[in-house]
Amino acid sequence: MNYKVHGVTFLILATGAWLLGMAVVMSSSLPWGIIDLALIVMSFAAVIYFYCAKCTARKVCSHVLPGYLTRYFPARRIEPYSRTDVVIMAAAFLSMTAFPLYWLARSISMLLVYAGLLAIAVVELRAKVCGDCRNIHCVLKKNPRCGTLP
Ligand code: SF4
Repeated sequence: MNYKVHGVTFLILATGAWLLGMAVVMSSSLPWGIIDLALIVMSFAAVIYFYCAKCTARKVCSHVLPGYLTRYFPARRIEPYSRTDVVIMAAAFLSMTAFPLYWLARSISMLLVYAGLLAIAVVELRAKVCGDCRNIHCVLKKNPRCGTLP
């Protein structure tokens, strides 16, 4: 249960950062802000289909929402992630994180808040969530003994 608190905290912090970045982009350029919003939505959808839909822990997802949303995506066979799955998952996170940097770099304070939120989120994830996650195929898995199917 505790890992769900930390898992949801990660999601709130990271999503807050991505939405903050989008708001900064949008305040400077509405079309680019809309493109950023579309990129965030598509990236989330890509992560849910290419990663979460194959997760052995999706019914007890530490972040709650991604695991819940998998039921609205096409079913996937539960098996180790392919290289394509991992590359698309990584590209989705990197692209929505990198996209607003050009606009954020114009305001050091906003850039620091953005980087700070993401840094805290990643520390929270690695320190408090990954060690207990039951996704036995996760490429970020910390504890190889933690492989109980839900
Ligand atoms: S625990 Fe599984 S369903 Fe939840 S976010 Fe991680 S990969 Fe996705």
